Amino acid sequence: MKLFKNQKLTLYNSFSKKKEIFTPIHDGFIGMYVCGPTVYSNVHLGNCRTFLSFDLVFRYLKHLGYKVRYVRNITDAGHLENDADSGEDRIAKKARSEKIEPMEVVQNYTIDFHQTMEKFNALPPSIEPTATGHIIEQIGIIQEILKNGFAYEKNGSVYFDVLKFNETHHYGKLSGRNLEDMIANSRELEGQSDKKNPQDFALWKKAEPKHIMRWPSPWSDGFPGWHLECTAMSTKYLGEHFDIHGGGMDLKFPHHECEIAQSEAFCNQNPVNYWMHANMLTLNGQKMAKSTGNNILPNELFTGDNTILSKPFSPTVTKFFMYQAHYRSILDFSSDALEAAEKGYNRMKEAFKNLNTLPTGKDSTMDISAWKQSCYDAMNDDFNSPILIAQLFEAAKFINSVKDGKASITPSDLEILKTAIHSFVFEVLGLQEESISDTNSTKLSDTVALLINLRKEARENKDFATSDKIRDELTAIGIQLKDGKDGTTFSL
Ligand code: AMP
Ligand code: ZN
Repeated sequence: MKLFKNQKLTLYNSFSKKKEIFTPIHDGFIGMYVCGPTVYSNVHLGNCRTFLSFDLVFRYLKHLGYKVRYVRNITDAGHLENDADSGEDRIAKKARSEKIEPMEVVQNYTIDFHQTMEKFNALPPSIEPTATGHIIEQIGIIQEILKNGFAYEKNGSVYFDVLKFNETHHYGKLSGRNLEDMIANSRELEGQSDKKNPQDFALWKKAEPKHIMRWPSPWSDGFPGWHLECTAMSTKYLGEHFDIHGGGMDLKFPHHECEIAQSEAFCNQNPVNYWMHANMLTLNGQKMAKSTGNNILPNELFTGDNTILSKPFSPTVTKFFMYQAHYRSILDFSSDALEAAEKGYNRMKEAFKNLNTLPTGKDSTMDISAWKQSCYDAMNDDFNSPILIAQLFEAAKFINSVKDGKASITPSDLEILKTAIHSFVFEVLGLQEESISDTNSTKLSDTVALLINLRKEARENKDFATSDKIRDELTAIGIQLKDGKDGTTFSL
């Protein structure tokens, strides 16, 4: 295997449940598929965490010099309300409640998703295919699975025959579930009587008369099952066997388990070499989710227009906060954690600003090449961004010491340090060079905090004319004060 930048990358494969040395199928090239958003509402911060985790993976693989084809889909049909085969299509439901076309829903939230990813400085994928753009491919795969005997048609719908498949293959090998246990714990659900067994899943669903998103097929006017789109799009753009498949932990079962079964039933090929799953962002100890309302939207965070945080936070600080945790750890979102991340980020940034004016000497009191390798070691160890950030803090400490005359660095080591910091901060972590506006945003927060205190004092002195003036004039320039039981906060 050819080594890139002389680095040996290992990653945790959720399939083998082990860290493995990464070897691409084709030397120098990597095919990576990540399940994209279902565009029926704004992406929340939890969704963003998963997409930013894979942005980090994409960026590091590119940094090492691989040619990466990164496919991330848009789910614009087929994802039903309950993640299984019943309920209404999420997009059709939203279209009906808002009295607009389903494709208007798709357009609105696809734009929101792209704008959000841009604010976070996430790179666009190489291909961003849609489920509705690949109905023909999905029908083709269903025909093959039927021909191979692993699916059956009933009343215009086609179901994957999980029990039949499990006679010759293993259903449950990714999630570690056992079909016998699943059968023992299941009960037939009302309205699913077309299925031979509750474990079977839909490849094609006949559309009820009121279902607005429908396409002709050999079986009925209907729509594809949710799991099928990812098999169709990954196979089309990356082949029947590709390197990396990613998504949030909650997609492992049933979505990814079903993808494996579909591929094996379609072309007798386990499709993926390395499965990667990002862990959940939680709020109040519970998973952030669209359905429960336990979430915060990126824009609510950036403007401060929310009831959770005391002030706005920039996309860069939010991303820094996320990367201070490893992608496989649960991360809880809170005001304190974000404030700590902001302080740390500003400290690091202030130190790095001195790089261009740092004095040089005859020798270096820190081994810069060893430090640089430790940054690579962190990323080579399953993309360990918290360790990488800890190494960047070490560099910041050293830079401050050189500035204060307590440490020294040679001109050539300074060049190595500058290039490495630039690569890891901007290329790999993808933090933005928004240093000026970031510093301004900190200054703005401090200034508003000062005015909030003056207003509090005025109110305590019953000088309501002054306290109202402060509030009204801030409102006039677009800064809204919010009085709550824990004090006053602001939003832009
Ligand atoms: P969806 O739009 O619901 O299909 O979700 C898009 C992506 O976000 C999937 O990979 C999910 O696994 C992921 N996701 C959903 N909720 C969270 C969360 N609270 N934390 C991290 N990732 C999440
Ligand atoms: Zn998927």
